Amino acid sequence: MKSAVPDDHAAEEAPLHTQPATAVPPVDGERPAPNANGNGADREPSTVVNLKEWIAAPAHKLPQVLSVENPDGGEKFTLAHCPFVPEHDGSCGPALVQTADGTIAFACSGPGCDGKRFRDLRDLVEPGWRGPVEVKASPEMAAAMAEVERVVGAHYPDRVDALKASLAVVAHNSFADHPQPISLVKIARAGAGKTMEVSWLLPDGPNDVLSESIYRVDNLTAASFVSHRADLDAQQLRNVDLLPQLKNKTMVTKEMAPLFAGKREQLTERVSILTSVLDGRGYISNSGAHGRRGYEEDINFSWIGCTTPLSADVLSVMAQLGPRMLFYFADRRRKDVDQLAAMIAKGDDTAAQRECREAVRDFLLLLHRAYPAGSVLGASIVTTEPQSRTIALWAEVLTRLRTEVPELAAAVAGLDTAAIGAEIKPEHAERVFWMLLDIARSSALIHGRDTLAEYDLGQVSHIALSSGVFARSVVFEALLRTPGGTATRPELQRLTEYASKGTVLSVMRELAALGLADFTEEEASNQPAMATLRPPFTELAAAPRLKAQT
Ligand SMILES: [Zn+2]
Repeated sequence: MKSAVPDDHAAEEAPLHTQPATAVPPVDGERPAPNANGNGADREPSTVVNLKEWIAAPAHKLPQVLSVENPDGGEKFTLAHCPFVPEHDGSCGPALVQTADGTIAFACSGPGCDGKRFRDLRDLVEPGWRGPVEVKASPEMAAAMAEVERVVGAHYPDRVDALKASLAVVAHNSFADHPQPISLVKIARAGAGKTMEVSWLLPDGPNDVLSESIYRVDNLTAASFVSHRADLDAQQLRNVDLLPQLKNKTMVTKEMAPLFAGKREQLTERVSILTSVLDGRGYISNSGAHGRRGYEEDINFSWIGCTTPLSADVLSVMAQLGPRMLFYFADRRRKDVDQLAAMIAKGDDTAAQRECREAVRDFLLLLHRAYPAGSVLGASIVTTEPQSRTIALWAEVLTRLRTEVPELAAAVAGLDTAAIGAEIKPEHAERVFWMLLDIARSSALIHGRDTLAEYDLGQVSHIALSSGVFARSVVFEALLRTPGGTATRPELQRLTEYASKGTVLSVMRELAALGLADFTEEEASNQPAMATLRPPFTELAAAPRLKAQT
């Protein structure tokens, strides 16, 4: 049937290989090699490729172009050596040719290169060009991750999980089927070194190949996504706008605290911009100076940031505006005097940092070579039903832990469920569910796995607990550790290391108002005496956790 249909590529089927390769190389880009399969079924749309730009793309790392000629209205780029076999030097005539009709051919007369076509070259230097494929287990990726764990684990064992969470966020761009941007904000007290592992991700300036996938932004304001600066014209504005530059990249912001500072109204305005941007559908804004401007296209990206702990007020503004931001508690125990003194013996850690940075860099280069943006399908990573349920439970916990609890609801918690229902409005958990699932899948990808594992769910648990109001997360987590999910108020004080009875009491009320736990009252005082996790959240006691957090 197929052969009977007039073939619009028929002209290219004519044998063109009569001349030696050094003259006009075989035009083989869009058709089968004449002696290979000969069925014409595997054409590729190479006409959409501008060869000159394709060769110039730094990511393709092609051999140097020695000369450019224009045979028959086309363009021929002679390469210094063959990209497949570097020993095939100029005497083999390695070249790429784009004919006037756009068809691209590869030529090299070196041994083993006769059947090689442009598509084979794309497979070599441009993985992912054929469109998204299923994730396959990758021993190369697993080995690279093992190396990162070895190097970083030797110097900074308490940074490994936080680093791997960052790498998962970066890897999220590799998925073609991710519905929205992911943003993960590391939270730690001042001096905890939260920015250390984040700085290992950064490129060495704008010419570094890593800058194609990692975008460093140190001074971020909400207005910088789409600028309205009055002193710039339209073209200049396009150049300063942050949003279009982020597409398919990971933005790294080492200090986000200024974004979360200020009065509630300012914060609400800022967070509403972030919320739009984090929808991944572009952003349009209006100003007196420039009127309506912005980007209506889909702009998907990842975002890693760092900040000091956020107030409940900030969290409640963010929860009201939408669940686009996830958090990662990256604090560590304070060093005691002996540990501080021991630092002298260890000496300056510049060399250790450099080693970690190099290991992370090697990993990122492999990640982008193996899984360029949009090259794999996250949904192909095997997720069992119990794993999905665990992620769903964490999504539900996360949304409740950061929901605002008005005083009235806390006061009647445990007594009047209807009144609480009227007061408490947790966000819907679907979006958080998808984001947590995406992070779990990205975590699998960076470990070279094609299935979710306990470690990925451990990261999910840590993100869920980090994204809630801190005191609530700590008490909820303590309840997960107690037999039957039950603990008295003094036990909770001991388990959470909270000195304040008042804090634990109010958190017990809040958890009840949020539907995460119930409590019994002390008869004399009417104060919560004993808290018990409410089903189905009791199931999370058996859910995988990060080793460092348990
Ligand atoms: Zn060759």
